[in-house]
Amino acid sequence: MPLSPEQQAEIDAQRGAPQSTLRTTAPGMEKHLYTAYPVLDHGFVRVIDYMGDDAAICQAARVSYGKGTKSVSNDAGLIRYLMRHWHSTPFEMCEIKLHVKLPVFVARQWIRHRTANVNEYSARYSILDREFYIPAPDHLAAQSTTNNQGRGEALQGEEAQRVLRLLQEDSMRAYDHYEEMISQEGQQGLARELARMNLPANVYTQWYWKVDLHNLLHFLRLRADHHAQYEIRVYAEELCKIVADWVPAAYGAFEDYRMGGATLSAKGLDCIRRMLKGEEVTQETSGMSKGEWREFQELLG
Ligand SMILES: Cc1cc2nc3c(=O)[nH]c(=O)nc-3n(C[C@H](O)[C@H](O)[C@H](O)COP(=O)(O)OP(=O)(O)OC[C@H]3O[C@@H](n4cnc5c(N)ncnc54)[C@H](O)[C@@H]3O)c2cc1C
Repeated sequence: MPLSPEQQAEIDAQRGAPQSTLRTTAPGMEKHLYTAYPVLDHGFVRVIDYMGDDAAICQAARVSYGKGTKSVSNDAGLIRYLMRHWHSTPFEMCEIKLHVKLPVFVARQWIRHRTANVNEYSARYSILDREFYIPAPDHLAAQSTTNNQGRGEALQGEEAQRVLRLLQEDSMRAYDHYEEMISQEGQQGLARELARMNLPANVYTQWYWKVDLHNLLHFLRLRADHHAQYEIRVYAEELCKIVADWVPAAYGAFEDYRMGGATLSAKGLDCIRRMLKGEEVTQETSGMSKGEWREFQELLG
């Protein structure tokens, strides 16, 4: 478990002190509040706070004086309409604040999503923990032979063991040197802000990350997708479960139109129309490049 007993006790205390409020609460989300869901070997995601629910999206879309809800089915229909027509601002009315613990190389991918507010653990002020991401054997994969930006089969036998040993030894040695440099016993001690520079990218960091639902769904669309690297995808997948409980109608529409749906080019649409009329369309007659045609074929299954 990535949490110390003291950290868990703090969370339990917070969960044990419910407060009454006039604000909207989403029952599906209340059960997730503060709970740390483990991800990778030492990481987690947990919800610190949130604002809004499915009704809040409809309330904003209708610019309503009250709750904005007409009926659950009416609201679900409106939310599907908004999602279908890329009417995104009502989704921005919902917000979520997360506490995430993640390896630095995952954080570098995550931080590219600029439409969020972030506050990261300061390794200038505090000493980082001796915690490094070491992939489970199944995820210690070889370079993909077909995709330069991907991985293939898991490494096997002696090579797998050697790679695992190198990762573990390098991480521990780097941390030993980090500790040695900042230690003040018999020396001045190097500043933490400098000593941290020899730590590898698999060391864990933590941050608070606040984002609105529209931009969170954009993040999930990109990072819960199979093209995303496994180590960020597992965080996105954990978040998908939380969002599905928080705003079930919005998440259902997102699954249908974004995760499960597809965008077609004008050429692709033209090909489908011609195919429906019985024409045999090939890559040469489609007007598409080889890559576009391959992806189009994959889309049609
Ligand atoms: C599978 C995958 C592979 C990737 N590979 C690489 C890679 O090799 N190299 C690399 O550098 N990155 C890579 N990325 C990162 C990618 O290019 C984006 O930076 C990242 O996904 C964030 O997307 P975003 O900019 O849409 O998100 P956000 O920053 O959250 O922005 C959301 C939307 O807001 C708008 N927006 C935000 N800021 C601005 C702005 N300043 N100006 C105009 N519009 C803005 C845009 O419409 C944007 O789509 C990869 C991402 C994925 C998912």
